[in-house]
Amino acid sequence: MNTFFKRIFNFIKQHPVRYIGSLILMMVSSVAVIYPARIIGQVVDQIVKGTLTAEWLIAQLVVLVGVIAVAYAAESAWTYMIFIGYYEIQQDLRVKLLRNNLRKKIPFYAHFRTGDIITRSSEDVSTMGEVMGFGTYATLNSSFMLIVTISMMITTVSLPLTIAALIPMPILSYFVYKWGYEVEEEYSKAQAAVSELNNEVLEMIDGNYVVRAYGQEEAMIGAFREKTEVAMKKNIRVGELDSRFMPLAEFIAMLSFIIGISYGGYLVSQGVIQVGDVIAFQVYMSSIMWPIFLLGDILSTYKRGKVASSRIQELEVYDDGLERGGQSTLRRIESIEFKQFSFTYPGEEYPMLKEIDVKIGEGETLGIVGKTGSGKTTLLMQLLHQFPYNGQHISINGVPVVEYRENDVAHQIAYVPQEHILFSRSIRENMYFGKANVTDDEIWAALKLAAFDKDVRRMPEGLDTIVGEKGVSLSGGQKQRLSIARALLRNRECLILDDALSAVDAKTEREIIEHLQAERKEGINLIASHRLSAIRHANEIIVLSEGRIIERGTHEELLDQKGWYYEQYNIQELEEIGRA
Ligand code: ADP
Repeated sequence: MNTFFKRIFNFIKQHPVRYIGSLILMMVSSVAVIYPARIIGQVVDQIVKGTLTAEWLIAQLVVLVGVIAVAYAAESAWTYMIFIGYYEIQQDLRVKLLRNNLRKKIPFYAHFRTGDIITRSSEDVSTMGEVMGFGTYATLNSSFMLIVTISMMITTVSLPLTIAALIPMPILSYFVYKWGYEVEEEYSKAQAAVSELNNEVLEMIDGNYVVRAYGQEEAMIGAFREKTEVAMKKNIRVGELDSRFMPLAEFIAMLSFIIGISYGGYLVSQGVIQVGDVIAFQVYMSSIMWPIFLLGDILSTYKRGKVASSRIQELEVYDDGLERGGQSTLRRIESIEFKQFSFTYPGEEYPMLKEIDVKIGEGETLGIVGKTGSGKTTLLMQLLHQFPYNGQHISINGVPVVEYRENDVAHQIAYVPQEHILFSRSIRENMYFGKANVTDDEIWAALKLAAFDKDVRRMPEGLDTIVGEKGVSLSGGQKQRLSIARALLRNRECLILDDALSAVDAKTEREIIEHLQAERKEGINLIASHRLSAIRHANEIIVLSEGRIIERGTHEELLDQKGWYYEQYNIQELEEIGRA
């Protein structure tokens, strides 16, 4: 079954009472709405025959008022119930998509651009809301109105007259189907253009400093205007297709009316039906006009929904290629081993990491150094399983990482990436990301380890200071120290610092490293750094070049080897002396 309908039915299945209740109320309201036509027809017949009495008329009026009251109550109740779905499906989908997006790893984010993910998670989700709200309401309402009205036409007036009046309808169906198909195609293009547009806006907001610094405002606005025009034209095309439905529906309705009145008149002249029947028939006809007019909107809503659903589904089913499904439980990391580990980036021809052999045990620190682009980050990212292993293994406690349950490894690792991500919240809340339910004392202790406590004490709001995009702007070094503090609060067995000290000065770096040495005697530390002073105390240091280990040993052993490490160390020492 098409995933679009599956999504709708699954949603309906989750709320059986609501939808069955709506259906019953809708049947009641459809009959109640149609019933007055029958009463009007009977009144006219009584007038024509001259048999109308006051008592009978009053009785009919009482019935009429009662029926209208029932129709009103039933219709407002079921409409309300159906429109809950408009909000609920959106909430369901938003949460589902966020969970999906958080689970996916780097290849997913390389495939879908951010603006595209946002458009699919917001606009396409709203479109699904419209399907469940307006779409369901209009479909149920129209189909019941049609079924009830046509049944009344056939049973209380005349079958031949009903068939004759409905003869033009297949023409409408044909065009509704044809244009609906085009709406689907065009809407798909329009949404892709909107995704593109949103991505552009995000990039320009992110890079607004650069745009201004390079005086590129006009050029960027020009390029953006072109893209908005593309999106606008595609949307106008959808609007143009939508606008064709109503006039055609009106034309067809007019034809049906004319047939109804002419053929109805003929049947009266032949004595087959009465004048009241023709009047009732016209009232019935006007009742089915509303559903017929709605047909175009319904179809357009479903076609858009189908596009939206498949765009959402693309996010859900995109396979980032990561190996999942491990069942082993990891409670504590005791050792990490890369054994002849090679790694090729997806889509690349040659391996980035080549035959890496490293083993780290508890209480040990591994230093990873090498030129920019030598593979330090790649090595650490792969320990976190950000790209598929493709048969290559990294083992933890002697067991391949893929055999552990999905989040077990990540939960045992405190990771500080090169790019520091702080949330627009207070320092305290940012620290809670490291570990929830910690006391302020624990937070201060972690801040002290990261040599950031003094900075926070100087801030007027202390731990309540808002940082991140919307808050106090921190220097690069401060952001790094806060990120390190957040990771240290986690206090996991394994700490990964990926060039996380690059923006702090040498003195602060030394302070942090000393704290780490004192505090993390039991843990495993992997520290990648371009500054050698950060890893000189490591138990083992590996020097990477083009993804291969070219030197390894302790600081002293590496100096003795007089290779790349020795040269770099001398250069950096001289720079440090120069700075001091
Ligand atoms: P380092 O951390 O030592 O500076 P990286 O591990 O970041 O080095 O990068 C190593 C190499 O991998 C670089 O040449 C970089 O261009 C390449 N690289 C990084 N990410 C990707 C990716 N997603 N796809 C392909 N190549 C990548």
